[in-house]
Amino acid sequence: MSRVYNFSAGPSMLPESVLRTAQAELLEYGASGQSVMEMSHRSAVYDAIIKKTEAALRRVLSVPDNYKVGFIQGGASTQFAMVPMNLMTTGEADYLVTGQFSGKAAKEAEKFGRVNIAASSKDKNFTYIPDVEKAAYSKNASYIHICENNTIYGTRYTKLPRVDGVPLVADMSSCILSRPTDVSQYGLIYFGVQKNVAPAGMAVAILREDLMENARADLARPAMLDYKTLIDAESMYNTPPCYTIYMMGLVLKWIENEVGGLAEMEKRNNAKAKMLYDFLDGSEFFTNPVNPADRSVMNVTFTSPSPELDKKFCAEAAEAGFVNLKGHRSVGGMRASIYNAMPAEGVEKLVAFMQEFERTNG
Ligand SMILES: *Cc1c(COP(=O)(O)O)cnc(C)c1O
Repeated sequence: MSRVYNFSAGPSMLPESVLRTAQAELLEYGASGQSVMEMSHRSAVYDAIIKKTEAALRRVLSVPDNYKVGFIQGGASTQFAMVPMNLMTTGEADYLVTGQFSGKAAKEAEKFGRVNIAASSKDKNFTYIPDVEKAAYSKNASYIHICENNTIYGTRYTKLPRVDGVPLVADMSSCILSRPTDVSQYGLIYFGVQKNVAPAGMAVAILREDLMENARADLARPAMLDYKTLIDAESMYNTPPCYTIYMMGLVLKWIENEVGGLAEMEKRNNAKAKMLYDFLDGSEFFTNPVNPADRSVMNVTFTSPSPELDKKFCAEAAEAGFVNLKGHRSVGGMRASIYNAMPAEGVEKLVAFMQEFERTNG
């Protein structure tokens, strides 16, 4: 067996020890006589798994008691609709557009009310984060929506928008659990799990209880798109993505017990990103297009001098065991996604490979 270094933006690498535990427990979980894939979601043994997973998320991320946690199907993209359907109580919301996903979120919200684009970085192809203090917030906004880490463009917020009395809603699909987060700064955090947390198939919502209780009353929502219905039923209104939740529990256990928590996770992630950005800054062959202050720690974009060389680079890198380095089709070039599970060794070896490629093609 030879496992590659997978730089995919998502689904992405999982920690090897997590995969080994899943493998060991595949045929029989505990003394249950069955796989987690096979068991009833209403069984006592599964109930313990989902409860343990939520408790671990609350511990690792220090989620305050007045926040509810929901495990919800449909990925982050369904959250783009659920947010305005539940939280747009005034019929209006502010959106900061810093890339494709926040653009999609704003577009989805337009179906349910007035969307005010408070700021955008489209003028420079999303290579920077706008100044959140100069954004044109609306007086009537029910919430402010951001995408905190822009997976495709490789940018991230270092400062959050703050307007008194207006809750902040953040899509944290590609940065959740990468560092300590003060959950109390947000009204709602949501994320698709397939970047940093688990296999695909679910989003998680961490929602302030008063926002859930005072949801929009003027709109008839399908039960499956209603936060309160799903959360009051403890994410068991219908069959939840049982196996994904179990895997999320294993990943949280890895962060807690093997890594040593989010502060240590952040240290490791910063060191990996620094290694790659330092190399890019010193290179006369590769360039990173992002405003340095706004660089993502999770997704590092770069280009070589030509699209032909980009293509050659990706092909040769894949042959050498560094896969999924092709940039998003809307940006071109390359992108190395270096989420939690990417070991430092993977980035070290990638940099060495890039050095050699530069030497022979520069
Ligand atoms: C991947 C991603 C999405 C889309 O997630 P799905 O689960 O595929 O809907 C949304 N937002 C961000 C920031 C992402 O990285």
